[in-house]
Amino acid sequence: DCLPQVSKRCAVIGGSGFLGRHLVEKLLDRGYSVSVFDIRQSYELPGVTFHQGDLCDKQALLSALKDVSLVFHCASPAPSSDDRLLFERVNIRGTQTVIQACLDAGVQKLVLTSSASVVFEGTDVKNGKEDLPYAKKPIDYYTQTKIEQEKLVLEACNKPKGFLTVAIRPHGIFGPRDPQLVPTLVDAARQGKMKFIIGDGTNLVDFTYVENVVHGHILAAEHLRADSPICGKPYHITNDEPIRF
Ligand code: NAD
Repeated sequence: DCLPQVSKRCAVIGGSGFLGRHLVEKLLDRGYSVSVFDIRQSYELPGVTFHQGDLCDKQALLSALKDVSLVFHCASPAPSSDDRLLFERVNIRGTQTVIQACLDAGVQKLVLTSSASVVFEGTDVKNGKEDLPYAKKPIDYYTQTKIEQEKLVLEACNKPKGFLTVAIRPHGIFGPRDPQLVPTLVDAARQGKMKFIIGDGTNLVDFTYVENVVHGHILAAEHLRADSPICGKPYHITNDEPIRF
């Protein structure tokens, strides 16, 4: 484990969300002070400064990134919103704005929450490594914009400029305050929609406990240095074993 970086200020874009709030809580435990940037405020915590705004607005971002050396970007429209224009505006153009704001504000490290689905073509992937190519036919438009977003962030990694980036790719995230994954499964079961087996019943899907996802983000952030091999790279993140589905 790494030493906490006491007195460091970081920002969590999307810090009001499910993953973002868990990340904020762990960062506080580790001695960081945190600026949350989000279109909504969902809680209050000592040590956290909230900045309400849209990440497509560079000026709004700049005021939240003042004196910040490390940024986590875990904001996205919900995949279920199924709104092409919104995904494109927030995940692609908004991420370009985030990168530009980081550069203007002198931020040194950017950690992106990507998604394991960026390499999913609709066929089985078991023990898939990061050398898998991006999906040529992504499963939906949300995933297509997650691919573009990840490429933008990783290509922005620039050691001479002192701007280092890394991406973490979780698949389904579960844990306390999960607003989507488990509640959606429970609803489906209650409505009798879980009586069917697709395939031969041996399908696997990867779910990761939210604290493990948070841990992966913080390890990546704290190891991101100019001499580190993780600069500009994506990392899958998972529990030890996939869950039988
Ligand atoms: P969430 O919806 O709980 O949180 C996302 C947050 O982003 C929300 O608080 C929302 O208000 C904020 N946001 C949305 N648009 C914004 C904008 N334009 N400007 C500022 N803030 C904005 O989602 P989550 O489950 O916590 O997901 C976090 C990240 O993890 C996302 O990037 C998502 O793609 C990724 N991810 C999630 C899962 C999962 O199973 N939950 C799996 C893989 C990847």
